Amino acid sequence: MKKIHVIGGGLAGPEAALQAASFGCEVVLSEMRPLRSTEAHQTADFAELVCSNSLKSESENTAPWLLKQEMRRAGSFLLRAADASAVPAGHALAVDRVEFSRRVAELIAAHPKIEVRREEVMRLDHSDGETITVLASGPLTSSPLAAELQQLTGEEQLAFYDSISPIVDASTIDMERVYFAARWDKGTADYINCPFTKEEYEAFLDALTAAETVEAKSWEALPANGAATSAPVTMNYFEGCLPIEETARRGRDTLRFGPMKPAGLTNPKTGRWPYAVVQLRQENLRADSYNLVGFQNHLKFGEQARVLRMIPGLEHATFLRYGQIHRNTYIHAPSLLTETLQLRAHPGILIAGQLSGVEGYTESIASGLLAGRYAAALACGLQPTPAPRISANGSLTHYITHAEHKKFQPANITFDLLPPLEEDLRKKIRDKKERHKIQCERALKAWDAWLAATRR
Ligand SMILES: Cc1cc2nc3c(=O)[nH]c(=O)nc-3n(C[C@H](O)[C@H](O)[C@H](O)COP(=O)(O)OP(=O)(O)OC[C@H]3O[C@@H](n4cnc5c(N)ncnc54)[C@H](O)[C@@H]3O)c2cc1C
Repeated sequence: MKKIHVIGGGLAGPEAALQAASFGCEVVLSEMRPLRSTEAHQTADFAELVCSNSLKSESENTAPWLLKQEMRRAGSFLLRAADASAVPAGHALAVDRVEFSRRVAELIAAHPKIEVRREEVMRLDHSDGETITVLASGPLTSSPLAAELQQLTGEEQLAFYDSISPIVDASTIDMERVYFAARWDKGTADYINCPFTKEEYEAFLDALTAAETVEAKSWEALPANGAATSAPVTMNYFEGCLPIEETARRGRDTLRFGPMKPAGLTNPKTGRWPYAVVQLRQENLRADSYNLVGFQNHLKFGEQARVLRMIPGLEHATFLRYGQIHRNTYIHAPSLLTETLQLRAHPGILIAGQLSGVEGYTESIASGLLAGRYAAALACGLQPTPAPRISANGSLTHYITHAEHKKFQPANITFDLLPPLEEDLRKKIRDKKERHKIQCERALKAWDAWLAATRR
């Protein structure tokens, strides 16, 4: 049996390593932290969540729920660790990040087939044919490795920008001014809501759009090989993660109908919805910190402190972390990857996680799960069977490997990626929720059959 080398101890890497090891393969897991860190990681821990602590919706028959259900059925190790570290978050699965990482580390340390190496990998093994590599070095892949990948694939590396939400110390929130509520009273009231009057909203908007932003750092505009460029720095934001000040610039009501939407959030003090709200989501089990939902931004730290303290209830807030901008590295999967996540030109190398063109924590773990299973098959001399197209996992891979070449952008799991119902069924079933339910049932059935067929 061939050995498996997993590069990256973030989200996709540990899941891939644990999956492959559970199939009896010998695995080496390389992680460069703490010898060298990234711009976003703060610890040397496996499975560090670098920004929010949410693994998205647990509402039945939503796309993120479906993805997680499939992963649970496939025995995802990281999802089990997430379930065991869950903190209250309404309809979402949010985790205590420290506890989550601790559990993942425990699983890796306890596995006799996994050898951990703390090293920065700079070269990819593609000649001896004795090793299967799973590259899961993430959106902040170190420059030498990114350059190696670029050389190997011959493709121009792509880069764009994402941003991080600020975190506030819970004890510094003015609890007299805010209120707990769940939107439309659905689920438990775990979110703190900061209510705005019209005047407060207008003043906040003015300050937000006028505040000074951080200039794009040169490393953010560099190609993967680290060579300097004289080209002007263009901000290329991912639409799903727009900085709040960018959203605000799109119109005076854009925030009120977007991340600051008050609908369904009745203020118990007035019995009415406020003009706008900022929602705060609990960060850890002790409920001593909250993140500002959707408030990823690109403002200078001093400006953030000033502007964010205009939010009702946060006048005297202490911010434990400010929003930030960051680089995101991913390959051009539609031209480079097969449906079993292998590089077309080097089938002994699989790409997993954000680097493969999926977007998000859960999606990264999911692609690690698939890559680990595919790598295990290859290590045994077998041809891996791709996940069924109709499943959420299969649809996500299908998207990254078949997306329109020119417009390829990383994707979260959504129903848009799943095959639609047949036309006659669509005509018959008008209710979207009912359609999604059928799509989920079909997906899970196909997924179970695939799991049964690929069990070894
Ligand atoms: C700043 C930031 C904020 C984000 N916020 C969110 C969010 O709030 N919600 C969400 O769903 N998604 C978010 N994402 C997107 C994505 O879900 C995460 O980046 C996720 O961690 C990706 O998982 P991964 O396993 O692909 O990469 P990572 O978790 O980054 O893991 C990659 C690992 O590889 C290591 N590594 C890199 N180069 C080398 C090398 N040469 N040798 C050895 N090891 C190496 C790194 O140290 C790292 O530990 C964010 C991304 C970034 C960058």
